Amino acid sequence: MDYDATHLLWDTTTLYPAPSSSQLETDLANGAAQTKTFRERYQGRVAELDVAGLLEALRRYEELSELLVKPQLYSHLLFAVDSEDDVHKSLSQRTAEFGNLMGRELLFFDLEIMDISDDKFAALATDVRLAGYRHFLESVRKLRPHTLKEREEQLLRLKELTGVGAFTRLFDELSASLRYRMELDGEERDFTGEELLGLLHHPDAAVRERSFTTFLARHEEESVVLSTIFNTVALDHSQELELRDYRHPMEPTNLGNEIPEEVVNRLMDVSEANYGLARDYFHLKARLLGLPKLKNTDVYAPVGETDRSFTFAEAKDLVLDAYGRFRPDFREMAEAFFDERRVDVMPRPGKSGGAFCMGMTPQLPPYVLLNYTGNLRDVATIAHELGHGIHFVLAQKQTMLNYHAPLPLAETASVFGEMLLTRYLLEREDDPQLKIALLCAKIEDIIATTFRQNVLTRFEERMHLERKQELLTSSRLCDLWWEENGKLYGDAVEMIPPYRWGWSYIGHFIHARFYCYSYTFAELLVLSLYRKYLEEGDAFIPTYVGILESGGSLSPADTVKPAGIDLADLHFWQKGYDFLAELIEELKRLVQGV
Ligand SMILES: [Zn+2]
Repeated sequence: MDYDATHLLWDTTTLYPAPSSSQLETDLANGAAQTKTFRERYQGRVAELDVAGLLEALRRYEELSELLVKPQLYSHLLFAVDSEDDVHKSLSQRTAEFGNLMGRELLFFDLEIMDISDDKFAALATDVRLAGYRHFLESVRKLRPHTLKEREEQLLRLKELTGVGAFTRLFDELSASLRYRMELDGEERDFTGEELLGLLHHPDAAVRERSFTTFLARHEEESVVLSTIFNTVALDHSQELELRDYRHPMEPTNLGNEIPEEVVNRLMDVSEANYGLARDYFHLKARLLGLPKLKNTDVYAPVGETDRSFTFAEAKDLVLDAYGRFRPDFREMAEAFFDERRVDVMPRPGKSGGAFCMGMTPQLPPYVLLNYTGNLRDVATIAHELGHGIHFVLAQKQTMLNYHAPLPLAETASVFGEMLLTRYLLEREDDPQLKIALLCAKIEDIIATTFRQNVLTRFEERMHLERKQELLTSSRLCDLWWEENGKLYGDAVEMIPPYRWGWSYIGHFIHARFYCYSYTFAELLVLSLYRKYLEEGDAFIPTYVGILESGGSLSPADTVKPAGIDLADLHFWQKGYDFLAELIEELKRLVQGV
């Protein structure tokens, strides 16, 4: 298939023909009507239902959830590619308000599941007819000690729209609206933030430093708004902790993730104990670049021939081939994204930065957003997002309540897919310079998804703990950021002064509290899974597919158990870093051989 301009834009008309379509209005009206019916039928009765009655209620609830979420997913896609369009803005706001309202109407269902007596719940949870919903029911019950009365929960949700939800929106709109002016190749012009971050991979050190400085300085200009947003998000969370009787800022995330606190602490401690590995690599990279010492703008500098750029069609084929070699149906699932135009490829003003894959529902296929600029890293991003895509497609075997993989496993298929791509490229190329470049890219990637995410998590933890005590000035936020990054970089990397503002553009802090440790978790988990694949060959594949197909039907620990992995094992996390150490040794041998 040829890739003309149209094929680089995603097609959302399979969801609704247009934002003004009557189908969308009908869905909103039906959603509201069915929510009312559901409430009338079940409110005040859930705790009394027998097995058959509860099963029927759960099925109706799932159907209703699918109906309600579709307009929101659609408007989210429109908003992501053009947040400056007024039609998109108002539809996005309208569906968010609609979702919020319906969510409040349906709150009673979870709350009444929590009200079922312990004896009765024990019998329900072990009844074979409810086996498909056991994990969901138990997850709801776990929140019982932290849940308020229905009216209180409703009010909190209502005020979220003008409270923390409004600040999240402000962050998104502000970030997408920022324009940057910079000189490149003798010409001064406008850049998007994504383009500037992409220039961290530029071969010229001065360009890398200038683009990151321009990017960060623009954020510093917005310091009033950005530090207010961060403070509000943190204060909101600390109020929530108090209202819901949590002891630590990470506790709600850990509970939601079904990862015991000890496991998270172990993961973070082991990561910090291995920071030396990153510094070892940074010293080596400085030698490769012929620099006395790296600046943090040199960390992603291309080594050898990675200034090679790839057309989108080339990149797409490489990724499809890498998946196809693993398993033909993985290639087919990945290819369908392009054939069905479910990928939006190019950066443009008003479009959301970065990349994501949006899982929809068991009935609706997922979508991928990219900001493709043509470097090797962008090729890896396609493999990453399509990994998510394949995961979402395989999980469509599950019903709505079991569809989304638990957060700590959400990055499994994406990181695994990147590994497949690296291995494919390493085997395909004979040029030692390019092999060095590929190995560097993989090592940097692992550093970014483990150590850097650990730094981010530590910063976020301190931000929340300190905000409990007092207002955080922007200079305090800068200090916290600087200190935590300093622990990783040590004497191996010099941080440029504007990097003090590095915290201010990280969307995860605003959108998904403590999401970042999921990357560390996933990367180390995947390194183990990948090692198993190397050892066991094709025999491993069905186990892996089974993990992806189980979606959110089991806890993380139960999901990975078939692969022989015990998350509570003390040495499990260190093994991932041992694999990284081996990669660094492999790189050293290659460098010496050149
Ligand atoms: Zn991802």
